[in-house]
Amino acid sequence: MTAFGSVFMPEMALTRFDGEQWSNFEMVASDSISLHPGAHVLHYASTCFEGLKAFRHSDGSVKIFRMDCNIDRFDQSTELLALPSIDREQTRTMIMEVVKRFASEVPEVPGSLYIRPTHIGTEPAIGKAAAPSSTSLQYVLVSPVGDYFAGGADTTLRLLLEEDGLRCSPHMGRIKSGGNYASALFPTLAAKRDLQVDQILFCPNGDVQETGAANFLLIDGDTLITKALDDSFLHGITRNSILTLARDLGMTVEERQLSVDELLERSQKPGCEAALSGTAAVLTPVGTLLHQGREYQVGNGKAGATTSKLRTALNDIQWGLAEDKHDWLTSVSS
Ligand SMILES: *Cc1c(COP(=O)(O)O)cnc(C)c1O
Repeated sequence: MTAFGSVFMPEMALTRFDGEQWSNFEMVASDSISLHPGAHVLHYASTCFEGLKAFRHSDGSVKIFRMDCNIDRFDQSTELLALPSIDREQTRTMIMEVVKRFASEVPEVPGSLYIRPTHIGTEPAIGKAAAPSSTSLQYVLVSPVGDYFAGGADTTLRLLLEEDGLRCSPHMGRIKSGGNYASALFPTLAAKRDLQVDQILFCPNGDVQETGAANFLLIDGDTLITKALDDSFLHGITRNSILTLARDLGMTVEERQLSVDELLERSQKPGCEAALSGTAAVLTPVGTLLHQGREYQVGNGKAGATTSKLRTALNDIQWGLAEDKHDWLTSVSS
């Protein structure tokens, strides 16, 4: 099996900002771009990206999930990194056109076409450590992906609760930007190696936040608890979708601070469940929490029924098996 995101369609949509305007986008080969070695992005990390999916329905049509939310977040990441403003309409067209171009190659569900819009600062100016790039490049790359749960939907994750370190600088948390992943990598590798965990759940000062690339949700009976939105972490669109579906199912959703103490105490209850949410993994059950050398099983340590119900509710909409009540799908006409 090939790793998630390592196969690409041969073309992508690309546009350049020359300091004054965006070029009309073009479809170009997806295996290379040319950059000056002094390009701003390579030195000062002026880069942001998005991740969204297109799904094939049984009638053959192809639908993109919550595209406008991803464009909003892309626009915001761009602004917070002082990159040239994107042309939202053109970005939308680029996503639609590249998906249309490869519509016949969108895998059957549970597979999908993963879409990766990217925006980087290209100005060759190594003196600009404290100044923005005046030029930039934007492209939309697509990658067919299979079932993330091919390993079995019953495997659960083991997470280290980290109270001292941060995933990234707090004012960068809501930006989907390369530097934030680089910042979480070293501690995550050390925890994987030394403690055999899958991920670190960052809990700065005892406040449960998120992992390196997914949001954290605690499910206690009919109540779903997750950190309220602030600048310090990524505002996941899957998180938002799951909270919406939980409310639709009559659950109580609490967006608030969740302390490590409360998390550990609640997780000991038999019916308790925990999960990570994100576009790639949808909702992945968490079975074990590691804190200060002690292991805590979440509920019975297995994938929970409510986690599975919520994941199914989301997949049913994405896959065209349930009504799209919230208008989350955009049709790609071929
Ligand atoms: C992308 C990402 C998420 C999940 O966001 P989705 O919009 O649900 O895919 C959560 N945390 C981090 C750090 C991320 O990069």
